[in-house]
Amino acid sequence: MNLILMGLPGAGKGTQAEKIVEKYDIPHISTGDMFRLAIKEGTSLGQEAKSYMDKGELVPDEVTIGIVRERLSKPDCQKGFLLDGFPRTIAQAEALHNLLADMERSLDYVLHIDVPKEKLIERLTGRRICPTCGATYHVVFNPPKEDGICDNDGSALTQREDDQPETVKKRLEVNVEQQQPLLDFYQDQGYLVSFEGDKDIKEVFVDIDQKLGALAE
Ligand SMILES: [Zn+2]
Repeated sequence: MNLILMGLPGAGKGTQAEKIVEKYDIPHISTGDMFRLAIKEGTSLGQEAKSYMDKGELVPDEVTIGIVRERLSKPDCQKGFLLDGFPRTIAQAEALHNLLADMERSLDYVLHIDVPKEKLIERLTGRRICPTCGATYHVVFNPPKEDGICDNDGSALTQREDDQPETVKKRLEVNVEQQQPLLDFYQDQGYLVSFEGDKDIKEVFVDIDQKLGALAE
């Protein structure tokens, strides 16, 4: 089961990834984890990646693709994988296609968790933090007992700069710009499956599970 997971920040990718990994026993491979592992293992590609990251530069595609190849060759990927955060560009998507063909494998689905932008803004701007104990709340999904007050210590809750509506909107727009060409690409190639993500977490997983269950049979 060879999968890519896509969705905007706040769409619930992390939660669905956990559920997919648990049910289908394939590793969740995020770009960050992949780099960290290669660096920890001290592979030559890992060292090369680190030299770019240390300088604050982007890791070039050929290094990234090499690290993806190393990761997908590990025994835990025999049954499949769930890629998250890679590919980010069409060039990377094409490289992944070639890499998989080399390994005599192919993609099954690109799972896209689709949530309208307005809903994402609501989710992403609702977070509140306690400056005293660090507890996090959400005005809709996890509200404190008393509006704006920490349950633990009675401090006034604050909103992080990152969670302000204008910042959130900008961040989403950047992500939409990055992601849309890739979604179109996979749509054209016939791999894209979109799931309505604006419902209960469990219901979203039921939909995903239905699609993947057919694949596992
Ligand atoms: Zn507190």
